[in-house]
Amino acid sequence: MPLQPLTTYDEQVQGLGIKEAITEAKRCLNCKKPQCKTGCPIENNIPEFIHQIAKGNMGEAHGLITEKSNLPAVCGRVCAHELQCESHCVLAKQGKEIKIGQLERFAADFNFGMGLIMDRIPSKSRGKVAVIGSGPAGLTIAGDLAKIGFSVTVYEAQPEAGGVLMFGIPAYRLPKDVVRREISRIEALGVTIMTNLMAGPDFTVDDLFARGFDAVFIGSGTALPKELDLPGKELAGIIQSIYFLRMNALYSSGLMERKDVPVKDGDRVLVIGAGNVAMDAARSAIRIGAESVTVVARVPQEKMRALKAEYDGAVEDGVQFAWSATPGRFVGKGGKVTGLAVMTEQGEQELCADKILLSIGARPANRIVSTTRGIEVDKSGYVLTNERPYGMTTRKGVFAGGDVVHRPATVVLAMKEAKKVAEGIAAYVDAIKLLGINVQEAGI
Ligand code: SF4
Repeated sequence: MPLQPLTTYDEQVQGLGIKEAITEAKRCLNCKKPQCKTGCPIENNIPEFIHQIAKGNMGEAHGLITEKSNLPAVCGRVCAHELQCESHCVLAKQGKEIKIGQLERFAADFNFGMGLIMDRIPSKSRGKVAVIGSGPAGLTIAGDLAKIGFSVTVYEAQPEAGGVLMFGIPAYRLPKDVVRREISRIEALGVTIMTNLMAGPDFTVDDLFARGFDAVFIGSGTALPKELDLPGKELAGIIQSIYFLRMNALYSSGLMERKDVPVKDGDRVLVIGAGNVAMDAARSAIRIGAESVTVVARVPQEKMRALKAEYDGAVEDGVQFAWSATPGRFVGKGGKVTGLAVMTEQGEQELCADKILLSIGARPANRIVSTTRGIEVDKSGYVLTNERPYGMTTRKGVFAGGDVVHRPATVVLAMKEAKKVAEGIAAYVDAIKLLGINVQEAGI
């Protein structure tokens, strides 16, 4: 167990100070063919912004980053830099790669702290776009389109915008004030965000077209967690990790009480799964007061899907691991779960638990598709999209991106796809305006 009590919501990794940032930036070789850039899914202007930090031009550095990213303070914290830009840096061979993520975070935080953010706000004359969902994909679409002259309204089902950034990734990795600040920067570009409005029950895609939107983007993510169909699955105390993380986030924002968070002080917790959500759930359970947390994974350690940094953090926090352990049945007494029987190389073992958190994946809910004609999905419910215009679904004028199309991926991969979809939407709206067609009325 950790020697120090872990704080529940304080950010764990501290950022660079100005002197450290400039010193770190000065180590960059400003390579002619910067490999770091090829390792970045959104091809951030990495050596260029690092060079500006080295010269002390923090505003310039931030401007270069926001040319490509609408979420620099988020990406600086949660991107898998170890697998992307930093692993591609030429200095990585000597184990001395530039701390690109930390520098990105520094530039975003410094500019916010100094009030130096000066995004250009163009007039909104190119068309009207509705965005459903305000996670990384929706926010990227909204920011990119607003910057090039579209009027954008974002519809969010939750009481606050941010999607997985607000209600999935725990606060010790991504403080919620950082998310709020990124969102207010996107709003400052002229984007309107409406919360507590769920597509399906509260409005439909057709309602949006009737309100005069030229295109609609669906970035509603994967809201339906997968169940583990084992004997005993009905026992109380078996909880979806994404529900636990969401309640934890609402509690940390003061919108829920401690009693609403389903892991109690002193609980023995098992987390089933081996991805990043499992690590987030395990580390959050420790922070909220669980007595012990064990991650149970069917796969051996070398096949875990979680990032190494997240795994290392979990080990440091005191999380234990049972690898190559296949869950066989939930064990319970009086209707409550008391453990999990797993099959290992040594035979069947029973692990004790007061709560079991499931982190075995999620898929899209069908609320939007079932209330909108003409949007085709694959057999698992993922929305089918076209290459041209990029991201358009089988219904003209309706686009989709992020996890609802590409299966759950990282924040930056959702952003990368969303940037391409934003280009597809812009090309589509420009074309229908040029031709003077009302696609929805014409039914084509
Ligand atoms: Fe700088 Fe490394 Fe990129 Fe070269 S590869 S420009 S050293 S960050």
